[in-house]
Amino acid sequence: MVMQRGRLWAGAAALVLASATGVIVVTRPDNGAAPGGTASAAEGSGRSNATSVKARRTAIDKILAQRATAVVEGDLNAFLASVDPQQPKLVAEQRVLFGNLRQFRFTTLRYSAADERPAPAMVTKYGRSAYSTRVMMRYQLTGLDPRPVQTDLGYTFAVRRSRWILVADDAIDETLSEDGHRQPWDFRPITVIRRGKVVVVVDKTESALGRKIGGVSQSAVAAVRRHWPRPWNGAVMVVAMSEPRVMSMLWTTGTGAGWTIAAKAVTLYDGDPRSGRTVAPVGSRIVINPAVRKNLDEDLLVHEMTHVATVPIGVRTPTWLVEGVAEYVRCRSIEDDPQWTVDPYRSTVKKKYLPSLKVLPGEAQFAANGDRSYGQAWWATEYLVSTEGVKGMASLYTDLALHGTSPAASAAIIKKHTGRTPAELVAAVRTFRG
Ligand SMILES: [Zn+2]
Repeated sequence: MVMQRGRLWAGAAALVLASATGVIVVTRPDNGAAPGGTASAAEGSGRSNATSVKARRTAIDKILAQRATAVVEGDLNAFLASVDPQQPKLVAEQRVLFGNLRQFRFTTLRYSAADERPAPAMVTKYGRSAYSTRVMMRYQLTGLDPRPVQTDLGYTFAVRRSRWILVADDAIDETLSEDGHRQPWDFRPITVIRRGKVVVVVDKTESALGRKIGGVSQSAVAAVRRHWPRPWNGAVMVVAMSEPRVMSMLWTTGTGAGWTIAAKAVTLYDGDPRSGRTVAPVGSRIVINPAVRKNLDEDLLVHEMTHVATVPIGVRTPTWLVEGVAEYVRCRSIEDDPQWTVDPYRSTVKKKYLPSLKVLPGEAQFAANGDRSYGQAWWATEYLVSTEGVKGMASLYTDLALHGTSPAASAAIIKKHTGRTPAELVAAVRTFRG
C-alpha cells in the first residue's frame, strides 16, 4: 500500500502522536442515494421535485465553477460570493483557503458535484433545503503534475433568500477519501516556497524552515538522480506542516507499539479517490511527520523521493523491491560523502537481520518488524545491483511495476532477470557479504 510506505522510526513519540492524531474514520460504501428528497420544499414555489433537483444542480455547478475561476484569476470577492455571510467563522476559513490555494499555480482547476451524502444534522441546522454532496476537485499544479489529479471535498449548500449558498464544508468529512479535505491548503495559513522544481509547503509562520527544507530537498533530488538510473524530472512537493492531519490518517503503523512513520510518499491519481485505484498513478506528494519536520535529515528525503521517482512507472512492484530501492538510493547517497558511512547499518543487517531472512519481505513482514524488513529489502537490492548492475536492477523494477500482476507473474519476471527463483534469490541474499 503506497499510502503507508515510509521509513519507520522507533520512537517513544509514537503513542503521543497516536492520541493527538487518532482520527477515527468511518468509511462506508457508496450508498448510491438518489439526490433530491428534501430540497424542493424550501422555496415553496410549487415546482416539481425533478425541476427543483435540476435547478439545484445548475445552481451548485455555477457556484463551483465560479469558485474555481476565482482561484485561478485571484478574485477573492468572487470566491466568497457564495459563502454564507451570516457565518463569520466559515467566511474567515474560506478566506484562508483562498489565500492558500492562490500560492499554488494551477494549470487546470475544476470542482464538480459528485454523489449526495445525506447529513440530517445539516437539515436540522440549515433547514429543509440543506443539501450535502461530495465534490470532486480535479486539478493540475503547474510544474508539478504531468496530468490532472483528483481529490474530494464535502460541501453543504442551502437556500436563503431564494439563493443557494455554501453553509458548511466539513459536515460529511467522514465519508470522504483518506486524504479528502485534508490537503495542505485545507488547514491554517501556509507559505509555499519554490526551489527549482521543488515546492515546499510549511506553516505561514515557518518560512525560514521552508527555505531550509527547500535547500535540503534540492540536494536530495540530485542524489536520487545520481543513483536511480531511469529518467526523473525532479519535480516534487514536500509538505512539512505542523498540522498532523494533512494527507494522512495516522502517523503510526505496524502491529507492535512504538513505530512512527517519519515521512510518506502519498500517491496521486486521476480518478475518484473513493472508488478504487485502478488507473495508473500520476505522481506523489511527500508529507513529513510534523514531529520530525524541524530535524529533517536529507537521507529521509532521498528515501521518499526515490518513491516519487519510481511510483509513476507502475504500482505492481513487490514491497521488498519498492522499499529496497529507496533504501539503496538513500544509503548510496549517504556514502557519496566520504566522511559518512553506513557501515554500522551494514553490519547490523548482516548480523541481526539476514539470519532470519526466509522470504522477500512483504506487507505482513513490514508490519511485524519494520527495521528488519527495511534492512532485508535493502540488502536484497544491493545483491541485485552486485549481480545485475544498477541498470539491470532498475529494469527488473520496471518489469515488475508493469507486469507483476500476481506472485506467480512476479516470480517469473524475477527468474527471467536474475536466473533465480524467489527462494533461490533469498538464499543468495542471505549469504551475500556486500
Ligand atoms: Zn519507503
